[in-house]
Amino acid sequence: MPRALLLDLDDTLLDDRGAMATAVLQLRIQRGLAPEIEDNKLIQLWDSVGRELWKAMANGQVTLEEQRRTRLRRVFRQELSDEAADALFADYLAHYEEAWELLPGALEFLESTAHLPRIIVTNGHKPQALRKVAKLDLAHRFLAVVTPDDCGARKPDPRIFLHALRLLGIDPREVLMIGDNIEADLAPAKALGMKTFHVNHLADGQSIRHASSAA
Ligand SMILES: [Mg+2]
Repeated sequence: MPRALLLDLDDTLLDDRGAMATAVLQLRIQRGLAPEIEDNKLIQLWDSVGRELWKAMANGQVTLEEQRRTRLRRVFRQELSDEAADALFADYLAHYEEAWELLPGALEFLESTAHLPRIIVTNGHKPQALRKVAKLDLAHRFLAVVTPDDCGARKPDPRIFLHALRLLGIDPREVLMIGDNIEADLAPAKALGMKTFHVNHLADGQSIRHASSAA
């Protein structure tokens, strides 16, 4: 039995893909953008272009602002000025934050593991990660929220996990890491000796609710 838990945030506790999908559809309606693209295609494009640009941002090839502007220009196939893109992205963010919700089963999981010390380990920017935690009323359920802003390393870099383990003060072999990303969340945790649980809300028996059986 683990003595402590590390948890990813996006698509492990919070329905991030769902929030992004809701927000991009609302933005399109609000601004009358790209009506020719089907809803599902738009959602998929927003996701895939976003992930590609986040990778480039993690490698230092683009800044946060460039990533946001390029994402809008590519997905909506528009020549937007920087100012227009920034205004559009601000609207998107408002819809996105409005759509933040826990994944089904997340609350039950947190209640059934309330006896274990827990830390969130996320690659999100600290201010946004803290807003997510506040909006979902999770702050009192966690010892800490660890982001790259705290330790200068992003998952899958083991240093972000080591930072969280130091805060826990518990041997990694007694810690369970729960996340949806095998490469970023689970492989490095395993390499450090932790147990892992793979959350996949599309697969039977792998939702966050089922993580209780591993905890
Ligand atoms: Mg995730």
